[in-house]
Amino acid sequence: MCIAVEAEDNLYVTKNFLLTHNSAAADKIKKMSLGDISLIPMSYRVQGHIYGLGNIRAGRRVRDIVLVFLPRNGLITNMFIHREPYNELIAFKALDRMYTIVDRMNELQLPERAANWPQIAKDAGPGCWYCPFFKPGTKDDLPDATGCPGNTDANSNMEKSLKEWGGLL
Ligand code: SF4
Repeated sequence: MCIAVEAEDNLYVTKNFLLTHNSAAADKIKKMSLGDISLIPMSYRVQGHIYGLGNIRAGRRVRDIVLVFLPRNGLITNMFIHREPYNELIAFKALDRMYTIVDRMNELQLPERAANWPQIAKDAGPGCWYCPFFKPGTKDDLPDATGCPGNTDANSNMEKSLKEWGGLL
């Protein structure tokens, strides 16, 4: 464990920082360190704000979200740390998005009525590469019972939504 986040005298805990740890290529971390925070995946930032909401509901104070990027290659001293104010709106919007999809699935009686899968919008981004349902080349580029063609466009709708919410950029 590189940082004792559970320690009572921990600098980060006492300052009401909520930390998440991620890894990234050393050259990407170097660019982030030089100021290109557009390289920080939006999903990591949203994840931090959701953790923040969970911690607040558990009775803890959260002032800032802190993303610690550890180099996959190179020295740990070359880590990059990004901090931004906790914003509950971002967490609420992300959760709302998830529950909207669940409601839509219930309306369409999925997964039982497999013919309705194409009516579920595919609306993600680079994270599709890691999704267990990702299956490029489905019929008409629509989701079906075998998987989802995803959306690997780096300028994903999720990123556009976050800009509209005005919380991060
Ligand atoms: S592959 Fe489909 S289901 Fe998976 S994250 Fe991408 S859009 Fe969502």
